[in-house]
Amino acid sequence: MAQKASESWQRRSGSRYQRVQDRICLVILFVLVGSIPGLAREKEKAPRKSYSVVMEHDWHSLIHRARSAGLRVFESNHLVLITDRASRAGDALEDLPEIFDEAVGIWAKHYRIPLSAVSKWKVFGCLVVDRERFRKAGLLPDAIPDFTNGYCEHYRFWFTEQSNPAYRRHLLLHEGVHAFTATLLNLNTPTWYTEGIAEWLATHRLVERRPQLQHTPIPGTPEDVEQLGRIEMIRRLRQSAEAPSLDQVFALKPTLHGTVGSYASAWSVVAFLARHPRYQEAFAVTEQQPLDTAFMHRLTSHPGWNGAAASRDFDAFTADLDYGFDYSRMNINWSPGRRLPAAGATTKVSAALGWQNSGWQLKTGRQYQLRALGRCRVAQLQRTDGQLDLESTAEGISIDWYRSLPLGRLLIAQWDEKPDSGGRPKFKVLAEGGETTFTAVSDSPMFLKINNRPGNLSQSDGQLIVNIGRKGDSFPSR
Ligand SMILES: [Zn+2]
Repeated sequence: MAQKASESWQRRSGSRYQRVQDRICLVILFVLVGSIPGLAREKEKAPRKSYSVVMEHDWHSLIHRARSAGLRVFESNHLVLITDRASRAGDALEDLPEIFDEAVGIWAKHYRIPLSAVSKWKVFGCLVVDRERFRKAGLLPDAIPDFTNGYCEHYRFWFTEQSNPAYRRHLLLHEGVHAFTATLLNLNTPTWYTEGIAEWLATHRLVERRPQLQHTPIPGTPEDVEQLGRIEMIRRLRQSAEAPSLDQVFALKPTLHGTVGSYASAWSVVAFLARHPRYQEAFAVTEQQPLDTAFMHRLTSHPGWNGAAASRDFDAFTADLDYGFDYSRMNINWSPGRRLPAAGATTKVSAALGWQNSGWQLKTGRQYQLRALGRCRVAQLQRTDGQLDLESTAEGISIDWYRSLPLGRLLIAQWDEKPDSGGRPKFKVLAEGGETTFTAVSDSPMFLKINNRPGNLSQSDGQLIVNIGRKGDSFPSR
């Protein structure tokens, strides 16, 4: 996947003339939004306050040049697509403009720009196999830097041919998002947002019915986003202790040589902020304001924003990030809890949630014993003869494993600020199974989780009863 890095981080170096034009065209729409609670819903749905008027382009002369040079031309409401790629049966290039049109509707909705305001928005994209052909045809100006995978300059963009159709579509949409935000929103934000939102809004899957395009911000399965590899990259970065902190991603610099890891990291921060229950409002409010150099200031000065808490939540997010990540079920309660009584205590752990704070604080170096009772449902299998519930005790089931442990196995952990293996903070699993002893590594709460794929949580049900006490003491009666 090393070839997947797109070199479009210099996109903002577009022609000065065009930028001036865009600024002149800035239209301010004043929307009456009061602070009256009853207006909250309307406020949510209100169109954004400012966006640029579309600059209509007459692409006919460029289309004529393309045809004269023997290049293929595909066209829809929002896209002129030119390519020198030879026609191949089943290559579905002719479908790309219509898919692009569907994506424009998704982007307009995301930024709350009325569809009527983008009806004339039309960009000129080139899918390039041989750059020389485009140069000779006058369709790739010398001023465009020598990009690897893609480059966008306002209403025009270029992207290189990819052998994988899904990744070709992804690149088309990634550059399309750059064009959309640059031309309609005068985007001038930090690199993590510029690239992260292009990745976030380009992530999709195709379905049979219309509209074909489905935005899949967090894909449900790897098949949804063939060869995209963003989730796998974050996992590799975490495992190799090279995953960046939230602040490190915030500090990404524009470059023509963005790595796959930096694109995945930029995507993961947008994925985190856009859907995490504690940050989605701050992020959405910030996105509806001007996308300018004050973007970070607006985000981090939003009421309730806590940088340290956000950093910890981001580390917990990247540690558990996977297909089907479930934001609400995997949201973590970080409250400090109460000191575990000398007589021990009883708590519960739900099969339908991620890491759960037991509410009991452990003491560094002290040994504890734990016993878990009960059964719960950890998945449902669809079979030809009906639906099969997979049930488990705290020991887990041997027929299905997740992250090297049996599904359904009870995990006992504490949050570890400084893992021995290096890298970002994470949950340190101290023990597992239904009957175990362990030693606390910090004065902090005990967390419990029933090992499972994020995508299975919504099919899971039930809970285990967990008795916890100091080692050597008798367990409390239930
Ligand atoms: Zn880009």
